[in-house]
Amino acid sequence: MTRREWWMTGAGAALGANLNGAANSSRLDVKTVRLMLKHTWTTVMSSSDFRDTLHFAYTRDGITGHGEGAPITRYRENAVAGKAAVESIRPYLEAADPWQFSKIMAEVFKRVEGEYAAKAAIDIALMDWVGQKLGIPLYRYFGLDAADTPITTFSIGIDTPEKTRKKIEEAAQFPVLKIKVGLDTDEATIDAVRAVTNKPLRVDANEGWRDKEEAVRKIKWLETKNVEFIEQPMPADMIEETAWVRKRVSMPIIADEACRHAGDIPKLREAFDGVNVKLDKAGGILEAHRMIQIAKALGMKTMLGCMVSSSASVTAAAHLSPLVDYADLDGNLLISNDPFTGVTVRNGKLMLPENPGLGLKANT
Ligand code: MG
Repeated sequence: MTRREWWMTGAGAALGANLNGAANSSRLDVKTVRLMLKHTWTTVMSSSDFRDTLHFAYTRDGITGHGEGAPITRYRENAVAGKAAVESIRPYLEAADPWQFSKIMAEVFKRVEGEYAAKAAIDIALMDWVGQKLGIPLYRYFGLDAADTPITTFSIGIDTPEKTRKKIEEAAQFPVLKIKVGLDTDEATIDAVRAVTNKPLRVDANEGWRDKEEAVRKIKWLETKNVEFIEQPMPADMIEETAWVRKRVSMPIIADEACRHAGDIPKLREAFDGVNVKLDKAGGILEAHRMIQIAKALGMKTMLGCMVSSSASVTAAAHLSPLVDYADLDGNLLISNDPFTGVTVRNGKLMLPENPGLGLKANT
């Protein structure tokens, strides 16, 4: 064996890694990625053609875990600030032992204020790494059954009647649709959808109704339109008013904007029937898992949602989805340049990948 051949073997490579210290540290790649939307996305809050998310790759022992966080404008987060937050703790993350992932995330929560999307990106990459290292898909790590995944809704953005019709045709395989309301045009929006399909709907007002009488009126009207539940009818801080509304309607009310973190859940109990948990609000898979368990312990319904994001983030959420009552995990289906393939959808049902970790494949 020549000296060069020896260096090409595993033994030589391992020694080389030890000599330069790389064996005990990790490589981090942090970048923002611009995801292009298939349709211009309009909600009460904004209208846009793209979303920038934060992508984090964690490499150690020849294994790379991928994570992503979609910063939420509502909470004054953005991808650039998220990237800076990860960079601020780079030396800690490079030196930390990934098997201590819970300890690492507790430390990340301590060291970084806010920036929950950045925390989610770190957590997801670590859990992807751990799953790959163990050789098991993440749902298995959490002791879940892939057969228990719920169906996911497919979101139809507010649009002209003609475009709404086209979007609903594109959503043919989804048995339940999600519709955004919360504007003056609510009745017209629902009527436009109902002119095309009789499928059950889930409706999200994104805090759009500020008057409790109006909220009751709108929800009672929705109750005649085959709607399963209403998400966040009133502003997040109007919990008492929402509780007042809840006493006067029969449709379940789900908290989204009002439910960011685990500590929010107990105070939502009187006003809401359930909570919409998102990795980008919670700060990752571990924290989202904890929120789901707390909500269940309080007798509340649970839902997993997502932001517009790639298959990295959506697949991470999907691995927890066997735990929840409802899923709204279509963020990756709304973009045209997904860097990964992960969770897929068959007749609306979430199909989890069987490869270890998140089970992502890079799209080339
Ligand atoms: Mg929502």
